[in-house]
Amino acid sequence: MRGMQMRRMLSPALRHRAMARHGLVTHDELDAEGLTRRVRSRMVADGTLRHVGRGLYAVHAPTLGTWARAGAVIGGSGSAVGGWHALILHGIDSIVPSMPSGADRVITVWTPAHVRRSAPPNDPTMRWWFRRDCANRLTRSTQVRRLVDRHDAALDVCDGLPELDVIGLMTRLLQERQIDPARLLALLEGRARHGRRKLLRALVSDAAQGVHSALEHRYVSRVERPHRLPTPQRQVIVGPRAADGWYSDQALAIEFDGWGYHRDRVHLDTRIDNLRAAMGVETLHFSWMDVVGDPCGTASIVAAMLQQRGWAGSMRHCGVCPARLNTVETHAPLSVHRLPVRPQKTTTAAHHQR
Ligand SMILES: [Zn+2]
Repeated sequence: MRGMQMRRMLSPALRHRAMARHGLVTHDELDAEGLTRRVRSRMVADGTLRHVGRGLYAVHAPTLGTWARAGAVIGGSGSAVGGWHALILHGIDSIVPSMPSGADRVITVWTPAHVRRSAPPNDPTMRWWFRRDCANRLTRSTQVRRLVDRHDAALDVCDGLPELDVIGLMTRLLQERQIDPARLLALLEGRARHGRRKLLRALVSDAAQGVHSALEHRYVSRVERPHRLPTPQRQVIVGPRAADGWYSDQALAIEFDGWGYHRDRVHLDTRIDNLRAAMGVETLHFSWMDVVGDPCGTASIVAAMLQQRGWAGSMRHCGVCPARLNTVETHAPLSVHRLPVRPQKTTTAAHHQR
């Protein structure tokens, strides 16, 4: 009886190896320790081992890391985990909230191009998605950890995401310096096709210019550039804090209130706005609704503010600017009556007759 107890334990060496692989041990390793099929099934029955998939067991409750690593082992020599799981296992936990619902249960495993695999995990809610690599991901992968390069993983993940989600994810990765923009671009150019190539190029090049949030990216590409607004300085200290945008000649600061904007920040922002006002600085705040929901109206606000404060230029009308922006613009500097916050006022005609 005592002998049986002994044989039902893993050697410290094997346990140690398993822990370095998210708890994973193979059928062959258990065999080598004399843990026969009968003993194994008893160990599974009493919870000492968990059956993970064909020929694979875990020495603790399987984690996402266990399932991922198991997929790579079943994928065979040279295979590696990709997609969301590669990013998480590279230590980028902050992306978890960006994952589409259910994505944590589908693990991408890249196999060499000539390999065709299909196997189910021993958990009906999990799935291994074996994909054949034709873009050299595996040559760049780490075979010690069985993970593709984080840049390849990020590119693959972005390929299937809606535009706004790509912006949010990439902004986070860039802000946290989890990826190298130059390497991402190089790998992107090496791909024959990528559904988000244009957007990724724009995001990465803007990152190099100091555009630090997804909202700011949208502002530059949908508000500032199409309406030919002058380019502000970015992240310059204005009064007590750096401004997201800064027009020094017009003493106009622009701030973006992004997804992370909370009520408790309002007090602080009001204080900052007041301190700046005392210095003669005007501060405009824009949210996602302003930038994505009404880019043309937002552009007209900025243009009007700049003109009031000495800018001799005027905004250009983009292809989708509402027609009424045109009629007013040609007669006079933009008046407050046209701003989206007061859509009910129609005093512009009287104003022009004056
Ligand atoms: Zn427009």
